[in-house]
Amino acid sequence: MIPTPTNTALKTLPTYQPGRPIEEVARELNLPANEIIKLASNENPLGPSPLAIAAMQKVLANLNLYPDGNAFYLKQKLAEKLGIAPANLVLGNGSNEIIEFVGHTYFAPGVDVVVSQFCFAIYPLVAKLFGANLITVPAKNHGHDLPAMLKAITPQTRVVFVANPNNPTGTLAPREDVIRFVNVIPDHVLLVMDEAYIEFLDDPLDLASLVRLGVRPNLLLMRTFSKIYGLAGLRIGYGIGHPDLISTLEKIRQPFNINSIAQAGALAALGDEEHIRKTRANNFAGLEFFQRAFRDMKLEYVQSAANFILVRVGEGQRVFEAMQKQGVIVRPMGGYQLGEWIRISVGTPRENERCVESLEKILPQ
Ligand SMILES: *Cc1c(COP(=O)(O)O)cnc(C)c1O
Repeated sequence: MIPTPTNTALKTLPTYQPGRPIEEVARELNLPANEIIKLASNENPLGPSPLAIAAMQKVLANLNLYPDGNAFYLKQKLAEKLGIAPANLVLGNGSNEIIEFVGHTYFAPGVDVVVSQFCFAIYPLVAKLFGANLITVPAKNHGHDLPAMLKAITPQTRVVFVANPNNPTGTLAPREDVIRFVNVIPDHVLLVMDEAYIEFLDDPLDLASLVRLGVRPNLLLMRTFSKIYGLAGLRIGYGIGHPDLISTLEKIRQPFNINSIAQAGALAALGDEEHIRKTRANNFAGLEFFQRAFRDMKLEYVQSAANFILVRVGEGQRVFEAMQKQGVIVRPMGGYQLGEWIRISVGTPRENERCVESLEKILPQ
């Protein structure tokens, strides 16, 4: 027996289930890894930015040295791009780590955390880890019901999480709703706007301008290099907020949480306009392809603004397993109370075709 954990939340806390790695499925099914495709974790199917790969290779010779704990050049470049100051930025080992910083700062027993039904799985996990009380607001058409979330705020609420576009549904909240939400959120509540997929939008709402103007100290934007930049394996994301909020989060951050390779790769990826453009074009075409295929197959799907799509297939777990046997890894949604649905990340055109072919074989016509 291990000594009893003092954090009693651990007794009932589930472990996060990530998308299954290709190598693991290959071992289990005895298939060659190169015959398996993974459309399960919203990764960039075009790979990392080639400029990032080159930049990362260059820093390998200096790995005897600790990284720059303040990531000077990366923050400088991000700040320039966003029209903010480096003091508005905190870097995380993936934006997941920033969620944990928020937990350390604001979550405790007796604190309410407001989220939406079908929200990103990490928010409830971290809330529970710190013993905070979760208030889950029913979704509307699979998306966030922002007016209802506003009403759900209590005097004990410290944090509201909104992912826009949302994962796993791909929904985008109406622009007017977001503007109103940001404007009327009470001062005692931190609004965390998770913008992991913002780069896939045609005309995104620019909330960073509120940070620039310093008018919303209770707003934290989160972004990541894991999605459009194709650097999920590198683990780097960032938060954008008021300097007072940022300096508080900075106290929690381990000094070297962003390694030297990640700093170099992210910096180069930011400047790789070509890779970003190609990724967006591939994504739009892929979403079109899936939506058309699902309409032909008479499958219900949720209109997506991100790089994945949620589709209703009946027994999601069974379909996931059957597709996996054919070498196509998607994401079952039982953990999100969406047992009839699977989530498919947009791949290359060839991967998307293989995925639809696999679905057609499995589902009754
Ligand atoms: C993928 C994703 C993230 C990014 O996580 P990282 O830790 O940066 O890889 C954050 N929020 C949402 C909603 C996501 O889907």
